Order: sequence, then structure tokens, then C-alpha cells
Amino acid sequence: PIILGIESSCDDTSAAVVCGRKLLSNVIASQAVHSAYGGVVPELASRAHQQNIVPVVSEAIKRAGITKSDIDAIGFTRGPGLLGSLLVGNGFAKGLSMSIGAPLVEVNHLHAHVLAHFLYEEGEEDHAPEFPYLCLLVSGGNSQILVVKSPFDMECIGQTIDDAAGEAFDKCAKVMGLGYPGGPIVNKLANIGNAKAFTFAKPNVPGYDYSFSGLKTSFLYTLRDELEKDANFIEDNKADLCASLQSTVIDILMKKLRKASKDLGIKRVAVAGGVSANTGLRAAFEDHRDRYGWNIFIPKFAYTTDNAAMVAVTAQFKYLAGETCPLNLPPFARVTV
Ligand code: ATP
Ligand code: FE
Repeated sequence: PIILGIESSCDDTSAAVVCGRKLLSNVIASQAVHSAYGGVVPELASRAHQQNIVPVVSEAIKRAGITKSDIDAIGFTRGPGLLGSLLVGNGFAKGLSMSIGAPLVEVNHLHAHVLAHFLYEEGEEDHAPEFPYLCLLVSGGNSQILVVKSPFDMECIGQTIDDAAGEAFDKCAKVMGLGYPGGPIVNKLANIGNAKAFTFAKPNVPGYDYSFSGLKTSFLYTLRDELEKDANFIEDNKADLCASLQSTVIDILMKKLRKASKDLGIKRVAVAGGVSANTGLRAAFEDHRDRYGWNIFIPKFAYTTDNAAMVAVTAQFKYLAGETCPLNLPPFARVTV
């Protein structure tokens, strides 16, 4: 089937078209307006979605080489996310559904991040993981370990009890004055820094759960103490701070993932979500493949942060299973997988 996907959960307006699991187009309009505020401003986000949604959807349809009448179903992110942002995408999807007579398929944004691995492009090999597999979902709002048993059955066996990994990157970047979102900037600086220069707290939480607030505090205290001695401390140690922070986050993430893989005897291990764009984390996965014989699944950069391609491919699974939805569903702001 030909599915149009619409994503508007946070600050990226995106539309994509898939034919089955094959990607025909994926258009993303990111919102620059938030960087001046050091974080996403919800009201500005929904206004920007309103400006972007029509041109973004039109462009996705055009690039896919289809017309509206070819669309079999419309998949849209129902939640979780910012309500005002979700409302724009949900409202648009519903209007389009009525006007072209194509059914709606609601998509959970987190499921979509996880199922991004099932996309493939023209001329590209299909390397979708076999079920069951483990997925480390690391994004701006979530850090979870999931056992993915089918496209519809994901069991969350561990999650953060406070901040998400992406949030840890963003908040530490903010206190260093690096700009928003901080994750990619930290990554870039980490590439030229010494990861052993500083040691930060690695919290001990039971099971497969994560915690990043202690690391954040320990990072903050290091800055505070060193700045007292040297006002240029951050400026002079930026790369080393970033490299040490990044390697600490990665160590925390991989330790629990190793434990889950060992305990459950599952060696197919995927990573998904915005933080899976991190080159250090990707390298850690490759290292685990070599050392522990993991079969690893790392998404293309384009499918790591928010995008509609992952929404469309998720909707495709649901559509094939007959899971369309009525027009009157409200968006939801919060939920875990
Ligand atoms: P959620 O999916 O949980 O609702 P979200 O949609 O806001 O949250 P994503 O778009 O998946 O999150 O990811 C954004 C996060 O990814 C941000 O915290 C950002 O800093 C982080 N991120 C993006 N690229 C990198 C990178 N190269 N290294 C580290 N973090 C990164
Ligand atoms: Fe996301």
C-alpha cells in the first residue's frame, strides 16, 4: 500500500510517502526559531507547524511521484509530544482523510522511532531485524530498553527514572553555553577531545533502568568548582568536557544493554531515536558487535531524529493488519511504549 506519514510531535514538521516498507520521499522542515531560546517553545512550535504543514506534505507527495488519489492511508503521530504541535498534524491528517477518502492510522511516536529500521530505499538492501530483538531507544524525551517481539508488541524492560540521555546532552551543553540542541554539538566537540580527561558520576540503579540526573549534577559541580579557580575553564576544556560527558553517557547506556542481551540471550540489538545519531554510541555498538557477536542495527542518520518516514512505515504495518482509526481521536501528550 501507499501510505502518507505525518509527524508533528515536537519541533520538526515532516511528511513522507512509503510504498510498503520502501521509502518514496521524506521531507523535514526543522524550526530554527527555538535556538534563540535554548529549547523548544511550544507555542512557537505549533505556529511553525501551521506554516510548514501544507508545503511539506505537498512536497512529499510531489517527490514521491504520486498524486493524492494514490494514497491508501494516512499515518499520523497521535502522541506522545507537545499537544499544540500534535494538534496541527492530527488536524491536517483528519482534514486530508476526509477530502481524499483515505483512512487514518494513528501512530505512537516511540513505536515509530523503533520501527525506523524497517525502512529501505530504492537500490538499497533491506536489512530489517528479525524478531525478537532488543532496541535501545534514546531520544530527547526517552531512554528505554525494549524487547521488540513484533511491530505491535514491544515490551519496555527498562527506562530512565529521571532524565533522558538526549536531555542529559542538551542540559550539559546548555550550562557550557553551547546552544540548542546540544547533542550534536557535544558530539562534534567530543570527536576532538580526550574522553579520559574528566570523571563524572555513573549512577547505580537496579535492573535495566537508567538515571542521568546524577551525571548532570556531577557535571555541573565540576564546572562550578573549576570555574572558581579558573574563569576560562569551560572555554579551555570544552572538547575534553564533551568527550568525557559523551563517553560517560555511552558507558551508562551500554552497560544495561549488555546485561539485557546477556540475561535474555538476545544478540540482535538495535538503537533508535535522536541520540542514535551520536557517532560515539554508533562506534560502541560496532565494538559490541566485534566483542560479543552482536548483530547490530544502526539507523541511517536521516531516520534518527524526528521524521515522518518512520511514521509512514509504522502506519503501513498497522494498515496491513486492518488497524485504521476513527476521525475523532484526540492527540495524547504522554505515554511510554
Ligand atoms: P521523543 O522522541 O522522546 O519524544 P524527541 O522527539 O524530542 O523526543 P528526537 O528528535 O528523537 O527526540 O531526538 C532529539 C534528541 O537527540 C536531542 O536531545 C538531541 O540533542 C539528541 N541528539 C541528536 N543528535 C545527537 C548526537 N549526534 N549526539 C547526541 N545526541 C544527539
Ligand atoms: Fe522523537
